[in-house]
Amino acid sequence: MGQGDTVTGGAGRCTCCAEPPVIRLKEPDRYLCAAHLIAEVEERAARTIRERGLVRPHDRIAVALSGGKDSTALLVILSRLLPAWEDASLVAITVDEGIAGYREDTIRAAQELTRKTGTEHVCVSFKDLAGDVLDALLVGRETQACSVCGILRRKALSAASHKAGATKIATGHNLDDEAQSVLMNTLRGDLSRLVRTSDADSSDCFIPRIKPLADIPEKEIAAYLFVQDMFPFLPECPYTRHALRAEVRSMLSAIEQKQPGTMRNLMNSKRVIEKQVGRRALSEPLRRCRQCGDPCSGELCQVCMLRQSLGK
Ligand code: SF4
Ligand code: ZN
Repeated sequence: MGQGDTVTGGAGRCTCCAEPPVIRLKEPDRYLCAAHLIAEVEERAARTIRERGLVRPHDRIAVALSGGKDSTALLVILSRLLPAWEDASLVAITVDEGIAGYREDTIRAAQELTRKTGTEHVCVSFKDLAGDVLDALLVGRETQACSVCGILRRKALSAASHKAGATKIATGHNLDDEAQSVLMNTLRGDLSRLVRTSDADSSDCFIPRIKPLADIPEKEIAAYLFVQDMFPFLPECPYTRHALRAEVRSMLSAIEQKQPGTMRNLMNSKRVIEKQVGRRALSEPLRRCRQCGDPCSGELCQVCMLRQSLGK
């Protein structure tokens, strides 16, 4: 069985109490009931935040809320942890890329969740940022969907976070996402990006990004929402099939099934490389984009380069 298998047979008891288990966790091997699974997931996120110093007093945290399962879990967990942090606040930011038949439902789910958790909510769109919806920007270049989408989404998120006065941007990346990124950057031979994507990655020009769920496997996050009746059953983005990530994802979870601990091993390798090489050693000096003035490493930032190639 893989990490975090869901228990369907109902046999046995939770390792912590007499209730029936809903999931089996590895490292260490144990069975957990719904209440202990919820406590475990929230404690693990709290520990990641504590140990890596991700939240400071008076932080205003912009939560990237797509409405999908990871960002839903992130907002639920952060809003429960919030009272423990001195004078910190949350603002949820949803980016509407303009993907027909997909985004409408996730935006509705995001609105519903912010209402339930009492979180301030801001929506920004690609139409405002790039002059058109993603579907229109991609005509004839569908295979590049995720890189175009990623560049514009990062820009939209940081612009909205700046405007909202945020001091941190929190994203819902889980352990599976992080391990997939390590593998993808390795496959692309992109060592600079491999060591650039850590928690609280920051410079004077950027709002630091934090990933409180980075130590939690995807299955546990799904189960955490499921047992609370909060799992968002939503359509998948129609461009997913073009993504290299989709292939890496299924390959890696197949290996993890056979060889539990593979994803954690990948993350450990990345940390060793990061320590040995040093993040600064590989990063290019920051300059200002000559078109928009945003920080970037070349003459033009990625968004302005993209706009030029799209003729926008
Ligand atoms: Fe954007 Fe690709 Fe994700 Fe769809 S799958 S939302 S195109 S990054
Ligand atoms: Zn620019």
